[in-house]
Amino acid sequence: MQTKSHVTVEKVISAVAFDDASTIDLVMAGGALCLAVWTGKSVSVAKNYSRDGKTYLPGDLDPMASAIYFPRRVHLDENADKLRADVQIELTRVKFLDQNNVALLTGFIFTSWFTDTFVVAPSLVLVGGGADENDHCLKLLNCFCRRPLLIAYCNGRTFNNLPLRYQPTLLISSVVGEAVVSCLQSTSYAPAKYFHQGEFLETPIMKVMPSAIADTWGDTNPIIPIVLQTVRADKYPAEHYYANLREEFQARLLGHRLRNLHEVRKAAWTKDRTSGPMGPMLDALTICAPNPSVNLQTIFKAQEEEVELERESQADHIICEAALALCHDKGRVQAMVAEITGVANSIAEKRGNPLDLVARATGHQLKRLGIKIVRVGAAGRGVKFDRYTRVAIHKVASHMSLPSAKIQTPGCPDCEALEKRH
Ligand SMILES: [Zn+2]
Repeated sequence: MQTKSHVTVEKVISAVAFDDASTIDLVMAGGALCLAVWTGKSVSVAKNYSRDGKTYLPGDLDPMASAIYFPRRVHLDENADKLRADVQIELTRVKFLDQNNVALLTGFIFTSWFTDTFVVAPSLVLVGGGADENDHCLKLLNCFCRRPLLIAYCNGRTFNNLPLRYQPTLLISSVVGEAVVSCLQSTSYAPAKYFHQGEFLETPIMKVMPSAIADTWGDTNPIIPIVLQTVRADKYPAEHYYANLREEFQARLLGHRLRNLHEVRKAAWTKDRTSGPMGPMLDALTICAPNPSVNLQTIFKAQEEEVELERESQADHIICEAALALCHDKGRVQAMVAEITGVANSIAEKRGNPLDLVARATGHQLKRLGIKIVRVGAAGRGVKFDRYTRVAIHKVASHMSLPSAKIQTPGCPDCEALEKRH
């Protein structure tokens, strides 16, 4: 390439948007990063692009950044509604997502292509389903999200090496350590809130994570829960199916981004902001995925209830319920871990979701919840319902907003105390 002395060269890392609605983004064409250029009328792929005395070149990929998937080409759909419908068809094909979750996931996918427009990036947490459903959901998002980066384990080391300046959508299977969670959390805000690899991030980073981290995520950082249903394993698509899907949709969604970035930016600046913790998420989704067939606000509400139900069927919640029930047993001063296990198993079975807990697992959960286990005579280990432990159990139950904690048990001083605080 010939460079005249007065021409400055700029490497494109994330994207460039010009005032006249022209946009540059990155594609991986012929094994090398190239520029996808939208002039306001048409789109082309080029090795470089010059205008206003500047020459734009694709940025360099470090090893971690090369794990990001970049579209192989650009395709312009006739209209956004068709693209949206086609994404929804694909998400509906897998049986583990119901209509509400398909709508939310579609909103999230479209938003991922415009992250650089927002101050807060929505994050997703996958709730329920088995390992297979979680895995396949991440694979699907890997086809549809902008610059997806699949991460098996995110520990401190992985986090430090993340190529965040490329604005990937992080698809994380598991997160190790609370420190990493809070680092990930800080990257949800822009601009320049987070210092990473020697520079401040300009745009927030979107991410998808397992539900285990949701409790440590904090109230100030709203995340969209996606509830997965368990399905039969033979219903899953094969690997090559995903590869084709990704190639097709990445090209179409990039075309959508290039053509609509300007409009989305304008809308993001001028739209009235929705109040409440989910407000920024709601606004982002509404702007990026226009004409949803369903009311997103209604879905958010329905989703909260579904997540609550999902939580209530989790082992730690049921064990806490069992401990609370036993502590409300008149005249009872202690309960063996085996007894708590028995009660927990019968609660789970009554709800049609058997847990088959063993005492060891129950003991572990109780300890995790901060409920003290001691040796109870010669018979083994258990919980002594002394003053301290009773308060602890009530606090945990109230924190989990267990259904039985909402109903005051008459005559229990600890239930009364909780009631007074509310
Ligand atoms: Zn009580």
